[in-house]
Amino acid sequence: MAGGFIQSIGDMAEALTNPFGDNTLRLGVTGLSRAGKTVFITSLVNNLLERGRMPQLRAQAEGRIDAVFLQPQPDLTLPRFDYETHLAALTGDNPHWPDSTRAVSELRLSFRVQPGGWFAGWRGPGELHLDIVDYPGEWLLDLGLLDQTYAQWSDEVLTRLAKRPEGADFLATARAEDGALPHAEDRAKLLADRFTAYLHAARAAGRSDCTPGRFLLPGDLAGSPVLTFAPLPLPGQTPRGSLWREMQRRYDAYVSRVIRPFFQTHFSRIDRQIVLVDVLEAVHRGPQALEDLRRTMADVLDAFRPGRNGFLDRLWNGRRVEKILFAATKADHLHHTQHPRLQAVLRAMVQDAEQRAAFRGARVEALALSALRTTVEETVTRDGLTLDMVRGRLLSDGRQVAMFAGDLPEDPARLMASARQGAEAWLDAEYALMHFAPARISRKPGEGLPHIRMDRAAEFLLGDRL
Ligand code: GDP
Repeated sequence: MAGGFIQSIGDMAEALTNPFGDNTLRLGVTGLSRAGKTVFITSLVNNLLERGRMPQLRAQAEGRIDAVFLQPQPDLTLPRFDYETHLAALTGDNPHWPDSTRAVSELRLSFRVQPGGWFAGWRGPGELHLDIVDYPGEWLLDLGLLDQTYAQWSDEVLTRLAKRPEGADFLATARAEDGALPHAEDRAKLLADRFTAYLHAARAAGRSDCTPGRFLLPGDLAGSPVLTFAPLPLPGQTPRGSLWREMQRRYDAYVSRVIRPFFQTHFSRIDRQIVLVDVLEAVHRGPQALEDLRRTMADVLDAFRPGRNGFLDRLWNGRRVEKILFAATKADHLHHTQHPRLQAVLRAMVQDAEQRAAFRGARVEALALSALRTTVEETVTRDGLTLDMVRGRLLSDGRQVAMFAGDLPEDPARLMASARQGAEAWLDAEYALMHFAPARISRKPGEGLPHIRMDRAAEFLLGDRL
């Protein structure tokens, strides 16, 4: 009681002397490739700038947001998130999906806000700078490499590869190599190319453990020596100048010059995080894809678990990501009556981590959303059966079609269990999925891109700071 009182007096004094506290907030946006990061950020920024479709954002509903504007970002060496180009792609005469995230980028959005609640009338407007940092979820998978030597990593990867048909080609190349022989760049390049091809095939097959992450999404490091390495069996001897030693040197450089700086410069400064997950696509592809997605997400989320990694714990130095929002994207593929079920599948997927109190200290929520709504809802009666469907323009040939994606189960535990047990197909249901193109939008001033629950996401992620 007394503690609470003193604390609120302290809060009040702090608020009066420093109305918006530290007035920057770093929001990390991540997710695996194609999860929807680019479209999410474009829609978030557009809807915060326009605000006509954000009723659940409390500060907006209370009429306290005076202005929102884009500003030059603080990190001058980081690529800027190309908001204008992405928005033009989605809203032009021939609307199309923008290019996806390939590397880290940033955008600063600033708010001028009237204070609310307790402090309304006591102080003038304040400013909040929201730094949105977009980065591939694949890069978080590299966290495990920080604890491993090249020899350990090679051994682990080669053992895993032996059980994967798509790894056969690379494995044969690696086993035929004698790492004790002098290094030759053409051999190193061949090995790296084949290993990269394997990683792409493994990712396409929905496998987890596809590290190193930069091999899949190299950003501006494509073709550099720091990405020209591959796992090799440990030879009897590893003389100076040997292929094995050179591979080891490059692996070590990858860890110290690529992975560590990413975690130090970008990851460890994040205050709030949204993790986007394309749950629907995995459900559509079947139990194995869903199980692989679950495992990959568990690996991705390791980066947010205190105690998982000494290097990260030292970096965070007791600080935590304050809030994590898990979002199942592309919910416009489903009628709204199915959205709670989609949310439940997502929750079941990240539940393991939550149950182990893994994100200690962070507030965690799960939400089904659509950054850009491409469909309208339609209820159809066929043969006496009523179906809740969505209608949209097909990405493949532009036709207007109505789609019923299938009934997600009320209890996702069964879905997850059959995925875990290695079922080949769903037992009693089928999940169809068509891919839609963005609809043509007639934009009005003050009206952002059509979406589903982006205002709820914004309220959770930054509403308390407005
Ligand atoms: P990123 O790789 O995480 O940056 O993913 P993108 O944002 O580029 O999205 C990948 C693809 O997912 C897009 O090209 C669209 O086809 C699809 N997509 C993303 N968001 C939505 C959405 O809200 N609704 C629909 N229907 N499709 C979406």
